[in-house]
Amino acid sequence: MSDCLFCRIRDGDIPCAKVYEDDDVLAFKDIHPKAPTHVLVIPKRHVATLADCDDPEMLGRLMDRVRHIADEVLGLQAGYRVVINVREGGGQEVFHLHVHVLGGRKLPF
Ligand code: AMP
Ligand code: ZN
Repeated sequence: MSDCLFCRIRDGDIPCAKVYEDDDVLAFKDIHPKAPTHVLVIPKRHVATLADCDDPEMLGRLMDRVRHIADEVLGLQAGYRVVINVREGGGQEVFHLHVHVLGGRKLPF
C-alpha cells in the first residue's frame, strides 16, 4: 500500500468528499477549508512536487481541468484563487502534487 496520502485517497483507501474525477485528475474538498470553497485537484499519477514534474503535457491537462472544475463544477464564475505550494519552504505538507482552488468570498492577498 502506498504511503502517500493522496495516492491512498485516489485509490479509495481513505475517503474523500469527491467533487470531480476523470482519467487524469481527482478533485476533492480540503479537510481544513481556508475559504467557503476549498478544493484540491490532484493528478492521478504520483508526482511529489511541481518542481519534480518534467511532463509539460500533464501540467497543461491539470491546469485545464482546474479551470473546468472551478467554472463548471464549483460555479466560481465570480473568481477564485489557484495555489500550488512547492516543497517545505513553500508550505507544502503533502508530497503529491496538488492545486488548491479557493473561492466563495473576496480573497485578500
Ligand atoms: P499543502 O500544504 O499544499 O501540502 O496542502 C495540503 C492540504 O491537504 C492541506 O490544505 C490539508 O488541509 C489537506 N488535507 C490533508 N489531509 C487531507 C484529507 N485526508 N482530505 C482532504 N484534504 C486533506
Ligand atoms: Zn501520491
